[in-house]
Amino acid sequence: MSFLSNLEKPAETDYLNCIRCGLCLSVCPTYREYLTETASPRGRVALARKGLDGQLELSPNLTEQMYSCFGCMACNDICPVGIHPGDLALSMRHVQEQIEPSGWKHALFGGLIPRPQRMEAATWPLRLYQRLGLRKLFYALGLRKLLPEQLRDLEAQLPSIPQRPLRRVLPEVTAAKGEKRHQVGFFLGCAQSLLFAEESSASTRVLARNGCEVTTPEDVVCCGMPARGYGQMDQVREQARHNIAVYERYDLEVIITDCATCGSTLKEYGEILADDPEWAARAEAFSAKVRDISEYLATIPLEKPTGRVEARVTYHDPCHLRRAQHVWEEPRSLMKLIDGLEFVEMPEADWCCGSAGSQLITHYETSTKVLDRKMDNLNSTGAQIVASGCPGCQMQLTTGIQRNGLAVRVVHPITLLDEAYGE
Ligand code: SF4
Ligand code: SF4
Repeated sequence: MSFLSNLEKPAETDYLNCIRCGLCLSVCPTYREYLTETASPRGRVALARKGLDGQLELSPNLTEQMYSCFGCMACNDICPVGIHPGDLALSMRHVQEQIEPSGWKHALFGGLIPRPQRMEAATWPLRLYQRLGLRKLFYALGLRKLLPEQLRDLEAQLPSIPQRPLRRVLPEVTAAKGEKRHQVGFFLGCAQSLLFAEESSASTRVLARNGCEVTTPEDVVCCGMPARGYGQMDQVREQARHNIAVYERYDLEVIITDCATCGSTLKEYGEILADDPEWAARAEAFSAKVRDISEYLATIPLEKPTGRVEARVTYHDPCHLRRAQHVWEEPRSLMKLIDGLEFVEMPEADWCCGSAGSQLITHYETSTKVLDRKMDNLNSTGAQIVASGCPGCQMQLTTGIQRNGLAVRVVHPITLLDEAYGE
């Protein structure tokens, strides 16, 4: 019996049915840049199959082809026989971790990321860098130009960091403005709390203005996507169980998030815990309640914003919203409610921006090639604002804008709605 039989691995139907038609090649950002079969969805499926059939060693080199996948899921959507090469690449990372567990991944995704207090402590230096004016000085003295290009691009990703993480500021219950019509939960993601606090404050204000009493538990942990991206499935399951138990304390109609990545992961808890007899039904019930904020706002009667946003605005579809959750019309429709806002569609709006969580760190060259393509498309719209409901995409777009010398503001679509509502 092969040692593989003892491992958690993809089902044979996840890869055996590939008919090698090549349709997925046309939508794959990594294939578009390299035009090599191994950098394509079809190639990754073939490698996974040979590895799992024992025809190829499951070596770090083979796994690297799985890590070079951006997880954008465009191939999942187009495959005529239902193969999900993007999901398969994630599963293969998990297989590799079972064969050869990585100490640093375990420490990072088990010991730091799911522990909000440690994450807050770890980001203190960044907060000081901005709050003490060091960043301004760094730019004013032109020191930034001395950094290697990759470091410069990573520095550019940093948004203006809030004085305190939103987790510590947002009340557990935000009252509805006027008559309470809905009882909703809010899942505050790590990036939103640590980096994009003003956006999530705006999200809760927009919900409250539209009759929602918003419950935001302080003790949630990371949704699990970073750990999933690095094959740490036991860790993902632990975080899922924790978050489900947190929300079971409340009686809520829906659980809303303004982070596309968190939303897609929370919606998958049912699948992630499907084989756990104690948690399967609880996870399914939890996932059934999860909504992206734009998805939810599109289902309730909204107060018409009276303020104006005088700007030409375009939109970038986060893969975790458009592909994973099939939410794409709603953010556009919400922005079109705003008077003065001229919406212009960006070519290839649903093409990955090259972020994929950490690709700017791990696969810099591919990430920036894909990003620069996005910037050409953004520039062609003449937009002054690009909206996108994912912190990873927003950070990547900010880097692209700096790299390409553009003057475009990056914002969450719901923040624009909040601005149009005013006080
Ligand atoms: S994964 Fe799907 S789309 Fe891609 S080659 Fe195989 S069958 Fe065709
Ligand atoms: S998920 Fe995206 S990057 Fe990965 S194989 Fe599919 S299309 Fe290519």
